[in-house]
Amino acid sequence: MDNKKIKIWLLGSLFLCVQTTFAQRDKGLEAITLPSIQAQTAYLASDLMQGREAGTVNAARTAEYLASQFGSIGLKPYFPKESGILNQYMQPFSAMRCSNFKSQLSLKNDLGSTLFFEENIDYQVSGKPVVDAKLSGKVVTYDSLSNHRGSFVYYKGIPSGQVIADLKSQGALALLVYDSVSWKQNIEKNAFRYHYNEAIYEGEQPRKIFSDTKLVVEGENLQTFVQINISEQMAHLLKSSSTTVSLTLSCQQEQVFLRNVLGIIEGEKSDEYVVIGSHFDHLGVQNGYIYNGADDNASGTVAVLQIAKAFVASGVKPRRSIIFALWDGEEYGLLGSRYFTRNCAFMNQIQGYMNFDMIGRNHDENNPESVVFFYTANHPQYEEWLKGHIRHYGLSLKPVYKAWDNPVGGSDNASFAKQGIPIAWYHTDGHPDYHQPSDHVDKINWNKMIDIIRSAYLVFFDMAQEEEDKE
Ligand SMILES: [Zn+2]
Repeated sequence: MDNKKIKIWLLGSLFLCVQTTFAQRDKGLEAITLPSIQAQTAYLASDLMQGREAGTVNAARTAEYLASQFGSIGLKPYFPKESGILNQYMQPFSAMRCSNFKSQLSLKNDLGSTLFFEENIDYQVSGKPVVDAKLSGKVVTYDSLSNHRGSFVYYKGIPSGQVIADLKSQGALALLVYDSVSWKQNIEKNAFRYHYNEAIYEGEQPRKIFSDTKLVVEGENLQTFVQINISEQMAHLLKSSSTTVSLTLSCQQEQVFLRNVLGIIEGEKSDEYVVIGSHFDHLGVQNGYIYNGADDNASGTVAVLQIAKAFVASGVKPRRSIIFALWDGEEYGLLGSRYFTRNCAFMNQIQGYMNFDMIGRNHDENNPESVVFFYTANHPQYEEWLKGHIRHYGLSLKPVYKAWDNPVGGSDNASFAKQGIPIAWYHTDGHPDYHQPSDHVDKINWNKMIDIIRSAYLVFFDMAQEEEDKE
């Protein structure tokens, strides 16, 4: 063949190649089916799973199911045999569970009498610090020019991050904050905590608030600077001279075990990866009420399972290697995805991350096709790809595109965005059953959920095939 003929032949085979890839991609799309989506979501959100709380046997049971799904789909386990890990899809890690937080706060005034205060009436310990401590010291009013070492520091208004950092470094004992607006809001939230977000609550009894338990990953800072929000009356008493405050804090601690579920499809490039993930944990059982978490986040978990199945069905060996990830411990502060990103040896080879958290409900019943599509702002191609696929395949979706400069909030996307990895995140926004026992499977908008999964498969396919490296 002469040069010209070779060129034509090469172009022709390239064209055929692209055509075959598209045909194969469509074959994968057909593997995403409504009955399997419904069956998997119903199973994950069934009472049998007991709300999938991280650190409990119920999350472990869920993870075992998910690993078995990865296996039957045909994903390669993330860990090699040599790792010695029994189930090679599982990434185990441990955390401390802290619960039964207790505090006692008393005040000795200059007349020598001691006053005792009651938590949630006179004061609230902010953020539930994981610490057993007995603290005692004089109260001083905050002054930017003084050193507050060994004191309880009284602050009126809302302290800035800088004020808190300064007090910490000076060795102040604790911060006593009075802010009339936030105090009122906190106390009201506390009083009505079982009617959070005006949801229809199942049952009559107040439930334990979620922050009554905390999971902390080992190796992270267990000590938290103590901030106490106080009532107006208490603020008044503190301001009288030579007041001494005594504070006792305690909580119960035990070690618990968590696990991420990870599977791989190897691509042509062994040094370029894309990751697609969802958290599978939810809020467990509180006061006898099961938090089934059908939308949050059985829906997202099923998206990852379906997209894994679609990739295998397509038969395409992607350009980049794909990691399918189901995270544990998101509800306790992104524990699973953070553990992964902190321990992954090839973070600089990860070129993109796609996240799902709550993709099954309508924020506005009059706009049932709406979905929020967050993405890293300097990757506008993600929005273009999604628009193109919705048009081409006639998907019933009306995305609200939210380009985000630094998408470090909301869900597991934050763990990746913090490491400079571009992200895309599907989310159908809030609703009255959010974080309620009434987040049930019968309320899912299946037509929207399946089209979100289809579109995400197509966009993620583009992410996996993309030639360009991240900047
Ligand atoms: Zn969630």
